[in-house]
Amino acid sequence: MTDSSKQFLSEHQELAPGERFRFACHPGVACFGACCSALDLMLTPYDALRLRHTTGQTSREFIELFANLMAMPEVGLPMLHMRMQADTRHKCPFQRDTGCAVYQDRPSACRTYPLGRATQRNAEGELVERIFMAREAHCQGFDEGTDFDASAWMHDQGLEPYNEANDRYMALAEDLRAFEELAKRHMSQKQLGMAGLALYQPDEFQLFLAQSGLLDRLDMTPARKDEVMHDEAACLDFGYDWLELSLMGHTEHLRPTGQKG
Ligand code: SF4
Ligand code: SF4
Repeated sequence: MTDSSKQFLSEHQELAPGERFRFACHPGVACFGACCSALDLMLTPYDALRLRHTTGQTSREFIELFANLMAMPEVGLPMLHMRMQADTRHKCPFQRDTGCAVYQDRPSACRTYPLGRATQRNAEGELVERIFMAREAHCQGFDEGTDFDASAWMHDQGLEPYNEANDRYMALAEDLRAFEELAKRHMSQKQLGMAGLALYQPDEFQLFLAQSGLLDRLDMTPARKDEVMHDEAACLDFGYDWLELSLMGHTEHLRPTGQKG
């Protein structure tokens, strides 16, 4: 769980399973756009990939224009945050008078609001989610519109592929945090650079894969290799497998060629 997730959880009320709420956000609410300024908005690797789908930029161009690169506390994994504009209101670079310019590919946190979602491994090692409600004074979207529970809201906001991909990012962070050997020696600059490529620059990671022949040294079907080289979402998914393997020495998803099960 990230520090910002922990802070969110400590400040907001947890939603009971099945608990319902009414919410609607649309250009007719008096506060329209009020929540799109001065944000500490983390961009997960999948958020960045989806945003680039709308902006049409390379990962390098996107990061240079719209993001600040940070390190996840304790773990050191690369983590992007949206860079707010340098105007007096510190608006999100995608905020327009008419709404969000990247609405179809807006980040997970924007989709999830007014809920917050955090994941943590339980004693059996399974990732479990906790859902929280942010009832902020400036937000006038409550008590109008449709009645939702958390899973109906997630579905309505198109969050399924985001949550699935983001869970891998959070699971990797949690596993690295628990991996004492790595914590003692810290990630090297080379490992950090490769993690940044695998997580936030799948377009450049594909070039690295083509030049290094890495896929030839891994036990993968030709179909998966082809998908990884031609589909950035598949490349990101592979990136998680490869980081688990290279940073912690094992993963249930991938093994070197010739290694028995
Ligand atoms: S990405 Fe869109 S919804 Fe999210 S803060 Fe920016 S303008 Fe608002
Ligand atoms: S403050 Fe609430 S209702 Fe207003 S624009 Fe933001 S999410 Fe919508």
